[in-house]
Amino acid sequence: MENEAYKEIIENMKCPICGGGDCIKKSAVELYLNMIKMFFKYQDKDSDITYRKYPTVGEIGECKKTFKRIWLCPYCKKPFESNYELGKVVVKCPHCDETLCIPVSNRTFC
Ligand SMILES: [Zn+2]
Ligand SMILES: [Zn+2]
Repeated sequence: MENEAYKEIIENMKCPICGGGDCIKKSAVELYLNMIKMFFKYQDKDSDITYRKYPTVGEIGECKKTFKRIWLCPYCKKPFESNYELGKVVVKCPHCDETLCIPVSNRTFC
């Protein structure tokens, strides 16, 4: 049941930047949604560690027209354009306003 719902979400997912159907890697979305289930199972909302407290956004592709990265929110399962700011480790989903961690590869260390 749950997997069926995921399939439909993934099938209908369009690039949040150009609206195209092939900017998003569907296999990456599926992988991410399965992985994040484990996170929510062990999520520690009182933790001081950002990565235990908030889920990490899914990296699900790159827009073929603008070359911008596409991220996925695990709460509302909607894709959005990566919008991290330098030095920050969290972002807010532009759709549902939940706090999400930025993937390690996007962070800058001093
Ligand atoms: Zn696109
Ligand atoms: Zn969201």
